[in-house]
Amino acid sequence: MSKVRVRFAPSPTGGLHLGGVRTALYNYLFAKKNNGDFVLRIEDTDQTRYVEGAEQYILDCLNWCGIQPDEGPHTGGEYGPYRQSERKNIYREYAEQLVKSGHAYYAFDTPEEIESLRETLKAQGKYNVQYDFQNRLNMRNSLSLPPEETEELLKINFPHVIRIKMPRNEYVHFQDMIRGKIEMPTDGVDDKVLLKADGMPTYHLAVVVDDYLMKITHAFRGEEWLPSAPVHVLLWKYFGWEKHMPHWAHLPLILKPDGNGKLSKRDGERLGFPVFAMEWNDPKNGVVKGFKELGFMPEAFINMLALLGWNDGTEQEIFSLEEMIEKFSMDRVHSHGAKFDFEKAKWFNHEWIKKSDVERLRPDVKKILEGNGVSIDDEPKLDKIIELVKERCTLLNDFWPQASFFFITPTEIDTASILPKWNENKTQFFVELIRTYSLMNSWNINDIEHSFKELAAASRLKSGELMLPFRVMLVGGKFGPGVFDISALLGKEETLKRIEHTLSIMK
Ligand code: GLU
Repeated sequence: MSKVRVRFAPSPTGGLHLGGVRTALYNYLFAKKNNGDFVLRIEDTDQTRYVEGAEQYILDCLNWCGIQPDEGPHTGGEYGPYRQSERKNIYREYAEQLVKSGHAYYAFDTPEEIESLRETLKAQGKYNVQYDFQNRLNMRNSLSLPPEETEELLKINFPHVIRIKMPRNEYVHFQDMIRGKIEMPTDGVDDKVLLKADGMPTYHLAVVVDDYLMKITHAFRGEEWLPSAPVHVLLWKYFGWEKHMPHWAHLPLILKPDGNGKLSKRDGERLGFPVFAMEWNDPKNGVVKGFKELGFMPEAFINMLALLGWNDGTEQEIFSLEEMIEKFSMDRVHSHGAKFDFEKAKWFNHEWIKKSDVERLRPDVKKILEGNGVSIDDEPKLDKIIELVKERCTLLNDFWPQASFFFITPTEIDTASILPKWNENKTQFFVELIRTYSLMNSWNINDIEHSFKELAAASRLKSGELMLPFRVMLVGGKFGPGVFDISALLGKEETLKRIEHTLSIMK
């Protein structure tokens, strides 16, 4: 068996959508599982849709997700160039080969002529008109024109395209790794352009030629390409490369959470969640935030994506990249689309934050703190804080609201939540507590807690009723980890300062 080689072949036309990242991920998992190569190919032959910066953005996203190509425009490799625009010279010869063998033809029609035919046929009540076996002989191409005229037009370099001559009344069969045996009629498929007037190939030609030349063994792509599959399968056959045709898999769509249909950028805007992996600065439409900026861990993001259409046959949901590689198989990819669920995505992230150790979280948390103007050199202290609050963070960005009080004295104290049960005895207790704590020589959780409870007992008060006010004094609100842990980390001086401050505003 030849070495497994798969490719992720995005077009640099904008931000990388969830579905695109999942396609990359499944390709990567399959390649790594089978000790194969994961190739990145940039499909940039459609100059009209090319967007500046989109290629670098794709690379950055893959990099963030931890799915590095083995070959690609930036990694190199023996099958390059990996950017289709740099392969322009390769394609014409293949398109011409098909003209010679009678499977393709030159077409000289101008866009206006095509439009005019459409109008004429519409007037005759014929809709859904396309350039196909029914109409091709009414058009200006090497099938309808006398050979001399075709030759003349080619000689004067009259603008032309090369189109595939789709056979009439045939069925194309192929095996899909997810959907099984597929049979599709050729009728209804138009004579697709293979080579454009500017000499660039269309996707249909380039994908076949490149998959062949790059020795791709498995081609996994979005389900939206299924209708084009007959064209591609026929091209493999017409080139005489059938034996080398990759195994296909058409991946199911990621669907909107509500209703039907593919999840789109607009759904994200409408429902308030990202659909891109990372922030995308669109030259036309401005900045769109991604999962990364919202505080997703890449581990959680790819875990969530992988499970959106695949499972390993058990109830397990949390997988590291290594585990996914080990467990992944194409036949466990679902054939139906999966609805995107943002709450579930956040659940994955929460699980990942909980299970990650401090070393893993520290750099991210540091960045978040720095973004809020706090730089911290005391790493052991930071580590303790991370350990204390991570359970409470669904997103990495939650570290700030959940832990900012460790670094900044809260300016707003939620006294309203303690006032209803406040009385003179409690004031007295905290006045005493300040005295007791001031006299303490050591400052650790046990001593802080012990003194607190001893004083409560001596004051005939329930310590449980005093802990909420204590918390509000230290934190500013009714949240956070254990109050004695907080006090220990804040230090004696800061603890006393915060109690005093609250007492002063409670008067
Ligand atoms: N360039 C195509 C896209 O962006 C790739 C499809 C394929 O993988 O063959 O969807």
